[in-house]
Amino acid sequence: MTAEWENKLLLIEKGQMDSREFLREITDLIDTMIAGCSAISGEEQGRFHQRESVGICPVCGNPVYEGKKNFYCSNRECAFSLWKENRYLSGMKKLVDKKMAAELLEKGRTHVKDLYSQKTGRTFAADLLMTAEDGRANFSLEFPKKKGSGKSGKGSGKRK
Ligand SMILES: [Zn+2]
Repeated sequence: MTAEWENKLLLIEKGQMDSREFLREITDLIDTMIAGCSAISGEEQGRFHQRESVGICPVCGNPVYEGKKNFYCSNRECAFSLWKENRYLSGMKKLVDKKMAAELLEKGRTHVKDLYSQKTGRTFAADLLMTAEDGRANFSLEFPKKKGSGKSGKGSGKRK
């Protein structure tokens, strides 16, 4: 492009090209470039702001970002969010961290080693499962090995 401009400047110098035409070409070019920038998707713009997505929204497929209190869908029309502190997990003294959120979004489950059992007063390990129902995160537990203990399998989380 520089070579092309040099060439045109030479033509202008020789009086073979109108300098205003040259300038108009440049402003047209800039307009095109600016139009191209605004066409960049929200996902791309998010990348410029150096936001790193935690995963993909199970409801609408847009990137999910980490907020202060939750992991939220970048699509404003989508209500999906994964609260770090939620009723289901706080009973087991557990917060959703970034690694858990990433696995839940990717695979719908994450292995948690230190869930607190109010019944036994001890911690236990289980797989935390997440499904998205009506745009909300819904949790349940699954135990890798069956133990004879009280908290059996699929207590479904908060459901409104
Ligand atoms: Zn979404």
